[in-house]
Amino acid sequence: MAPAPLATAVAAGPAGRRAALGERLGESGASALLVVHPPNIRYLTGFHGGGALVLTHDGEATLVTVPMNRVQALDEVDAEVEVALAELLPLETARGRLAGRGPVAFEKDRLTVGQLEAWEAGSGPELVGVAGWVEALRAVKSEDERNAIAAAGKASVDAWESVLPAVRPGVTELDLTARLEAELRARGAERFAFDTIVLFGPHAALPHGEPGRRPLARAEVVLFDFGAVVNGYVSDVSRTVACGPPDPRLADAYDVVRRAQRAAIEGLREGRTGREVDALARGVVEEAGHGQAFVHSLGHGIGLEVHEGPRLWKGNDEPIPAGAVVTVEPGIYIPGLGGIRIEDDVAVGREGARALTRVAPEALVVL
Ligand code: ZN
Repeated sequence: MAPAPLATAVAAGPAGRRAALGERLGESGASALLVVHPPNIRYLTGFHGGGALVLTHDGEATLVTVPMNRVQALDEVDAEVEVALAELLPLETARGRLAGRGPVAFEKDRLTVGQLEAWEAGSGPELVGVAGWVEALRAVKSEDERNAIAAAGKASVDAWESVLPAVRPGVTELDLTARLEAELRARGAERFAFDTIVLFGPHAALPHGEPGRRPLARAEVVLFDFGAVVNGYVSDVSRTVACGPPDPRLADAYDVVRRAQRAAIEGLREGRTGREVDALARGVVEEAGHGQAFVHSLGHGIGLEVHEGPRLWKGNDEPIPAGAVVTVEPGIYIPGLGGIRIEDDVAVGREGARALTRVAPEALVVL
């Protein structure tokens, strides 16, 4: 089947999104689309739980879920979605309802091999793998989605600012993690976008280190990476500060990372590719002699999930659509000394980009 085209229009609400997929189904020749990835089910129906969603080319939408979820499903989906209950497994029930139809498109990146084998062992329509159909729509955010991300971003930055007085020698990474998470909750986080990261000193040189019982010492950096979920939508923010004046190399690195971030945000707009935007930031870091220390990609889309399209990295040669919301998060990691990462959430428009989070301080904050 044809690869996912770039979404160009924002489909309004679950019904509009299903209509956009119905058109795509018609073009593909498949009789139906089977959706199993929970964030995709939520995007297309409003239902927060799991199961199997069947969309037919003639516009029918059936959500199959387990009886336990019946009341919640009926409450959350719109009137055009039929809720069907699975006797055993939702996929088995979905297969039964699709009996006699032509080939059915399924999410080949989401179904497990075991689920596929079970489907093929029974009698039912042939499955044809497709990828990125729902994700291409999700890459372009509506105003409501953008507002939810901005609210999550505000809760995140506010929570972070409120814990800065606790950045003192002797506090541990886990202490600060707990405080930050409590502040995120107090500001309306339904849950956290991912496990909150707080890392001190040399530990901050690990981009995805895990907080531990390490006490903070003077002159060490503190790297925070955290996010809230509001109305189902995530924020993803990183900040780096120092506890007392740090090694000058770290203050310099902060300056480079901030300039790299600014260069990328200023260059972000519809039509630029992920590779091009990544190169804008990477160029600044390389020019400063830290190219080897920027060990990850520049950013990623955020929305119902913390890592979604479009990706800002050298592997993405697709033009970024207007309406995308992405993180811009350059970093420099110096083994044995520390790491600097600054990350803000940015909405992409036709002419440029707009930060949805209050952007990071211009210079390294020394507490
Ligand atoms: Zn991120």
